[in-house]
Amino acid sequence: NLKGKTAIITGSNSGIGLGVARELAKAGADVVLNSYTDNDEDHALAKEISDQTGTKARYIQADLSNGDKARGLVEEAGRCDILINNAGIQHVAPIEEFPAAKWDAIIAIMLSSAFHTAAVALPMMREAGWGRVINIASAHGLTASPYKSAYVSAKHGVVGMTKVIALETAEEPITANAICPGYVMTPLVESQIPDTMEQYGMDRETAIREVLLKRQPSKEFATTEQLGGVAQFLCSDAAAQITGTTISVDGGWTAL
Ligand code: NAD
Repeated sequence: NLKGKTAIITGSNSGIGLGVARELAKAGADVVLNSYTDNDEDHALAKEISDQTGTKARYIQADLSNGDKARGLVEEAGRCDILINNAGIQHVAPIEEFPAAKWDAIIAIMLSSAFHTAAVALPMMREAGWGRVINIASAHGLTASPYKSAYVSAKHGVVGMTKVIALETAEEPITANAICPGYVMTPLVESQIPDTMEQYGMDRETAIREVLLKRQPSKEFATTEQLGGVAQFLCSDAAAQITGTTISVDGGWTAL
């Protein structure tokens, strides 16, 4: 039961972040949703979660490509017992054609923002006497694929930083872990399909089975509800001694 805890979930107006926010709210946590937009729909998502779960939910706009804004998100939330670093983008291109600006944006949004949010959240967790840092890394935090240089680098970096946070909080009631999903069907994955089709000259179905799910032996996408469940487990007492590690939710990808 997460009653009385506040969870900040970065990049949570869509996909995995939204799914994790919904599951944590169902478990009783107050949740802070975030993205870089500030639309009525963003705030409506928070209201919907409040209405459905009876917990407090709010939406805070912050563009996490900017370190100060990432820090500002946690400062504005004012409390952070559970930090879920989830925001992410993807770009697929060979290194020699990979736009430098895309490299910078991916490293900033997926790696640097997790450093900035943790820097503000950890003192809040210490003050509260309990904390959970859960970084949504990827199977690409443990293995690589061609054409995803920035993404693979950022995700490996996130796994490394997770270990450092775990060591810096080792003697405290705070844990830090990374969840490493294989493919989960979300807008981020959907948006990769056209590029993948073009890169490999395949139709949609073939691209999904032969490229996206090629390394996912289960041949099934994971669900955002399953990821929310794993995050909830990491917040439980049973997981109190799990720290500085990765939990793969990848249908066997990293067993290959
Ligand atoms: P998504 O596109 O549905 O969600 C990404 C979220 O990040 C959105 O809410 C988006 O608004 C937010 N975001 C992007 N740029 C931002 C910025 N500058 N500032 C603030 N928020 C920003 O994608 P998703 O699949 O739900 O991905 C969520 C996370 O899970 C990512 O870190 C992704 O790398 C990781 N992941 C996804 C999969 C998958 O198969 N979908 C697999 C492994 C890891």
